[in-house]
Amino acid sequence: MNSEKPIYVTQPFLPPLEEFIPYLEKIWKSKVLTNNGPFHRELEQTQCRYLGIDYISLFANGTLALVTALQALRITGEVITTPYSFVATSHALLWNGIKPVFVDIEPDSFNLDPALIEAAITPQTTAIMPVHCYGRPCNIEAIQHIADNYNLKVIYDASHAFGVRDDGGSILRHGDLSVLSFHATKVFNTFEGGAIVCPDAKTKTRIDHLKNFGYVDELTVVAPGINGKMSEFNAALGLLQWKYVDQVLAERHRIDSAYRVKLEGIPGIRFLPLPEVQIGNYAYFPILVGPEYPLSRDELNDQLRQHNIYPRRYFYPLISEFPMYRGLPSARRDNLPVASEVASQVLCLPLYPELEESEQERISHLIRSFVKKGSL
Ligand SMILES: *Cc1c(COP(=O)(O)O)cnc(C)c1O
Repeated sequence: MNSEKPIYVTQPFLPPLEEFIPYLEKIWKSKVLTNNGPFHRELEQTQCRYLGIDYISLFANGTLALVTALQALRITGEVITTPYSFVATSHALLWNGIKPVFVDIEPDSFNLDPALIEAAITPQTTAIMPVHCYGRPCNIEAIQHIADNYNLKVIYDASHAFGVRDDGGSILRHGDLSVLSFHATKVFNTFEGGAIVCPDAKTKTRIDHLKNFGYVDELTVVAPGINGKMSEFNAALGLLQWKYVDQVLAERHRIDSAYRVKLEGIPGIRFLPLPEVQIGNYAYFPILVGPEYPLSRDELNDQLRQHNIYPRRYFYPLISEFPMYRGLPSARRDNLPVASEVASQVLCLPLYPELEESEQERISHLIRSFVKKGSL
């Protein structure tokens, strides 16, 4: 149908291959492949320094980090969370035998709406697990206020929020714990990887035990821990990626700004204003396809695909629509009107460091062209 090269929603950033060889040579020479090796320790130190946090524990992926974060704080019963996220957020609750309670999102941030949290609290509620969706900070103060009043823990799924800073520093310092993902599709990747940001040495020690089967020393096992450790291969990749992190964020910023100009004023196409942060990470570029646009979101998606452009409907369907969740009372659509509407209109456009200006122009031009035609 189309000879132009395909444009996917994201393309992982990879440093030049030859720069990775020296890291591999070190691993081959030392034969230390995992279990808190030198690259693992160095990446933890580098991340603390760069992110402006005190303690971090690296993981094999973000999902294991979420599962372990809940165990570290001994969360049980019910946890209030958002339906507007990647499914791993709620899956981590089910893996711990915890019941998710879905609360709707704010229309202008797509994050958990603090005004609706109190009504969802029951005697079984032990924690709130919000997501900094698209790297936009949640209403942290309001959420903490409720958590303090009801003695609840707060675990942020910060998978999208790598590098984001507010006036006081990294947004990863908020809540009791924050969880990161370094999956291939994320702003910072180690192929697969994740981390828990923790407030003190004691919590980090407990988490380090939990991600290593519960081992404290050679003979002592204190909990039914999991194997969640990051390998030396992935940690080495992280150290190499680190050298490019500022460049990657600058490229993302440039692309985000260009979309804002190119898509300006298209009837029925809305996008979120820049978040109020010191440093953003431009992780995603979601647009909402409203009723004034001549095509529905799914029609626009299909049209773009026919032109070899592959955006993604993050997040559709809502987590609450999947079979293992939809029977929950909080999963009903009338409990989640904002999330349901946003999920039906959202389309995340391609955004990655190597996306070319001409490709962005092609995408934006197409989206505008359907308005001129008025219909298909
Ligand atoms: C990517 C992602 C995860 C899962 O991370 P993995 O590293 O792929 O296990 C969890 N939550 C959100 C919001 C994500 O985007």
